[in-house]
Amino acid sequence: MNNAKPAPSDFIRSIIAEDLKANKNDGRVHTRFPPEPNGYLHIGHAKSICLNFGIAAENRGGLCNLRFDDTNPSKEDVEYVESIKADIQWLGFDWGDRLYYASDYFEQLYEYALQLIEYGKAYVCDLSLQEIKDYRGTLTEPGRESPHRNRSVGENLDLFKRMRDGEFPDGSRVLRAKIDMASPNLNMRDPVIYRILHTSHHRTGDTWCIYPMYDFTHGLSDSIEGITHSICTLEFEDHRPLYDWFLDELKVFHPQQIEFARLNVSYTIMSKRSLLELVELGFVSGWDDPRMPTIIGLRRRGFTPESIRDFCNRIGVAKKDSTVDVALLEHSLREDLNKRAPRVMAVLRPLRVVIDNYPEGKTEQLEAINNPEDPAMGTRKIPFSRVLYIERDDFREDPPSKFFRLSPGREVRLRYAYFIRCVGVGKDEKTGEITEVHCTYDPQTKGGDSPDGRKVKSTLHWVSAEHSVHAEVRLYDHLFTRENPATSKEGHDFKSFLNPNSLEIIESCQVEPSLANAASGEHFQFERLGYFTVDTVDSTKKGSIVFNRSVTLRDKWVKIEKAQKKEVKTAKEEKKVERSGALNVKREKDDAGPAEEIGIDYFSKIDLRVAVIKEASHIEGSEKLIRVMADLGEGRLRQIFAGIRSAYPDPGKLVGKKVIVVANLKPRKMKFGISEGMILSGGQEGNLSVTTFDGNPLPGDEVS
Ligand code: ATP
Ligand code: MG
Repeated sequence: MNNAKPAPSDFIRSIIAEDLKANKNDGRVHTRFPPEPNGYLHIGHAKSICLNFGIAAENRGGLCNLRFDDTNPSKEDVEYVESIKADIQWLGFDWGDRLYYASDYFEQLYEYALQLIEYGKAYVCDLSLQEIKDYRGTLTEPGRESPHRNRSVGENLDLFKRMRDGEFPDGSRVLRAKIDMASPNLNMRDPVIYRILHTSHHRTGDTWCIYPMYDFTHGLSDSIEGITHSICTLEFEDHRPLYDWFLDELKVFHPQQIEFARLNVSYTIMSKRSLLELVELGFVSGWDDPRMPTIIGLRRRGFTPESIRDFCNRIGVAKKDSTVDVALLEHSLREDLNKRAPRVMAVLRPLRVVIDNYPEGKTEQLEAINNPEDPAMGTRKIPFSRVLYIERDDFREDPPSKFFRLSPGREVRLRYAYFIRCVGVGKDEKTGEITEVHCTYDPQTKGGDSPDGRKVKSTLHWVSAEHSVHAEVRLYDHLFTRENPATSKEGHDFKSFLNPNSLEIIESCQVEPSLANAASGEHFQFERLGYFTVDTVDSTKKGSIVFNRSVTLRDKWVKIEKAQKKEVKTAKEEKKVERSGALNVKREKDDAGPAEEIGIDYFSKIDLRVAVIKEASHIEGSEKLIRVMADLGEGRLRQIFAGIRSAYPDPGKLVGKKVIVVANLKPRKMKFGISEGMILSGGQEGNLSVTTFDGNPLPGDEVS
């Protein structure tokens, strides 16, 4: 099904591997992807899809269900259901015969609710939604109990059945779980589990006028399907106690909920609600606008399933929210298209070139290589004639000092063709604008090399005017001008950061004749310009072919990586001193008292994480340091040099320990290698121990 490299391990995969070792769930691995059909899928969902379907595929007998979480009839639509299915298939994943809908379980869920009432664990409450909110309390104050909390089981059963029978209007009553109004976790303060909504549902029609809430539905649907690992995003961490509560109270099969960090990508937004707004207000042409971070938009732009899966593998899975640079997404696409896209020549802003000494009416077929990365893709013929087009930008009448392309008197190479020399320009008499360039060619240089060894400084792409085909090209830039448009300190709406230059349409391009029959969705590299994909929507509608620029040739990601390496290097120059890997707050040598005070803001910048030590060894040449390889739940191990050798003459004792690591320090280049963090330890010199945990936190968990 999918030929991507295997995903690197991460903390979720480690949990599953442990469970398998312990034969938990009889060795079954069963995940699910649970979209709400209220919008199109985006690249964030792709991360979750790759994770859930990927884990199922990696484990023998592993399964992944597709389940629509369709509990909110007012926002859902069949259009979304169909698009979600198509997107998952396009990404290369298969749910087999396991396509489910939470709405399929409405009857069963209703039975579960009746059971909770019978156990005295749920009650019908007549407070309005506003009153429920007011009674709920705050993080610092406990909530107040509803006056209806102690209704008898009989009364609750009667009222709940009548809610189902449609006796009461919307918003007049709800069913609530009876848990704890003083719980420090607000989700546990008697959450609503059913509400009245006299609204038609896209699947169940008018059968129901009460609908279960997400938290109630989700875990029980997981349980009904026998899901073993219910993987969701971090915002559900605080809901986990509730997830567990329903399953425990009802004594049903208990899947394990595991949370991971949501994907954010720079210069875009990731919320379906905001994306819908862009569509509805006409800021984009639709969910499939090639600037959208939706799967369907990325696909129209020219992204391949392989590139998206590769991207999802590269970003890994962690417990900490972060924003991934969009340059990495583009990098994944470039790498994929580099291998598969045929090279062609296309001139976006044509300038006429007349080869004065080339015979009129003559055409030569020159041989061009389709893909230097893949000789199997062969060669093709491209026509050369007396009148050509080159890129307007490739000619300057008065070239600045470093301009090596065509200019009066200068000789350049035409790709796969000849050397040409500019001998004059033709101008519009009125405007003075250059309308054509006159050149001569050297017949000896056919194929692009000169027998006398003469060199030229640049090679230009071109098309033959008479043979070329007209095309429209659309260039895209980031949809937003800000790296993180969704959060603005000044309180601006994300829409105020829309990039006015995110789309440039060039209507009069000329492309080589081999593109005349390019298929919808086909990818090409336009030499020197970037990767382009035939638009799947407008190419068929318009008379002329339309290309979307999928990605430029310039790889910003490579630059970013280089800069990161440089940062490490600078750190080396700053401090060549060998440094203890244990965190020492600055203090006087013989002062054992507390260190100088810092503000809470300062402290909150320190990111403390749970780490599991996987390897620990002495280092030859260092009396103080131990080299530790630590798992912070990032899908890779970090190397840390810690100054704790005196305390651990046998470093093997450290392996398996759960320690605290300062995770957001700049990597430090030390004499023995790069150190990526510090391990917290306590005690006096000579009697130092690393700080460990009592309980069972996971690698990457936040320490607070
Ligand atoms: P949005 O906030 O974009 O509307 P959502 O969480 O409401 O997203 P769902 O349809 O409920 O959308 O999501 C289906 C699954 O995809 C859930 O398990 C959710 O956790 C996951 N998911 C959604 N957004 C992201 C993201 N940015 N990164 C990783 N997983 C995500
Ligand atoms: Mg959701």
